[in-house]
Amino acid sequence: MTVEIDADRVLADLRELRRIGALESGVQRLAFGPDDRRAREWLLERFTEAGLEARIDGVGNVFGRWPRARRAVLVGSHSDTVPRGGWLDGALGVVAAVEVARALREVGVPDGAGVDLVSFADEEGTFRGTLGSTVFCGDIGDAELDDARDATGRPLRDALAEAGWAGRELARLDAERHHAFAELHIEQGPRLEAAGVPIGVVTAIVSMRRLAVDFHGRADHAGTTPMSMRRDAGAAAIRFAARALDLLAQRGGPDTVWNIGHMALEPGAGNVVPSRAMLLIEHRDVSDERLSEFDEALAQLAAAAGAEHGCTHSLREVVHLAGVEMDPDVVEAVQASARELGVQSMPMTSGAGHDAMIIGRHIPAGMVFVPSIDGRSHDVAEDTREEDLVTGVRVLARAVQRLLNAETPVKAVGAST
Ligand SMILES: [Zn+2]
Repeated sequence: MTVEIDADRVLADLRELRRIGALESGVQRLAFGPDDRRAREWLLERFTEAGLEARIDGVGNVFGRWPRARRAVLVGSHSDTVPRGGWLDGALGVVAAVEVARALREVGVPDGAGVDLVSFADEEGTFRGTLGSTVFCGDIGDAELDDARDATGRPLRDALAEAGWAGRELARLDAERHHAFAELHIEQGPRLEAAGVPIGVVTAIVSMRRLAVDFHGRADHAGTTPMSMRRDAGAAAIRFAARALDLLAQRGGPDTVWNIGHMALEPGAGNVVPSRAMLLIEHRDVSDERLSEFDEALAQLAAAAGAEHGCTHSLREVVHLAGVEMDPDVVEAVQASARELGVQSMPMTSGAGHDAMIIGRHIPAGMVFVPSIDGRSHDVAEDTREEDLVTGVRVLARAVQRLLNAETPVKAVGAST
């Protein structure tokens, strides 16, 4: 029997979760803050009601285990938000996961199979980006967790203690049990809407590098110092910035994106030659090798710009996220589900990082995207048409069912349909 979701039930859940941390038309649930904690307690109840053995673990992950299953598809996303965030980023994926579990319980699953649910902690990086999924996969050591702090310098350990979760046993990815991970998410960009297609099938999550470039010169009087004798760090940084943008425009592929998101001059007075200038330049592409080539070229540009202005410089890679290909079988399960439901879908890459990027390094993973109105996200303006939300949950549920059926000896069933 084909799984059937209850559209009203899932929309009602989404609206209820939206009330926790509501801010204007969006929500704000910063990791481990009071509203994030309330949302996780609320999810714990939903997971339990759906028949799962559920708990909140030592890093704040809400994890629900399908009883008596030997093999399970892991389904979920995150429930924390950025400051002044939207109501669907992450929330859609966890609420959809609950509905998938309920609907599959109603229709029945193959013997020994099941669905485990998860809402990962601090995906948005209040303390550390994709914290919950990284801990879940065992990809981070205790020392790194000891060092993690928010922007105010507050240690992660203190926030976990205050939430009452410190010291709890951690939920872990179990490669024997978890044979696939599926995440429904809003696109957070304008491509699906522009194409008029309701479902995006994610084929890869792109790689990302962020470089901090620092130029050091000398502060001098802006009126009395001859141009030939200046060591103007600001001029070096701006020259570097302009050439870097040109280089990326010339050598970037169709999917390459980049920006200089921050730039600062010191001491920052109109009548002082800048002694220091720093900027953050970020670039993303499906091809990690391409990003390595850019890094090399950018390092040469920084050296040249520094030298031209008599400045020393340093260049540091502050973020290096390796992207990941989504698993072909999960991609196929999503595509087939959309086809079966008579819903148009298109393959696409994700320019944003997600928990699936972490999980996908360990087990087969895939993502389903639904359109974001006007491409808006990471803002209270974020929204998606109800019809598209429901279609997304429907495609996810059917894809998970296909994955559950595929791993038991029911290949004959697949062949006969
Ligand atoms: Zn998200």
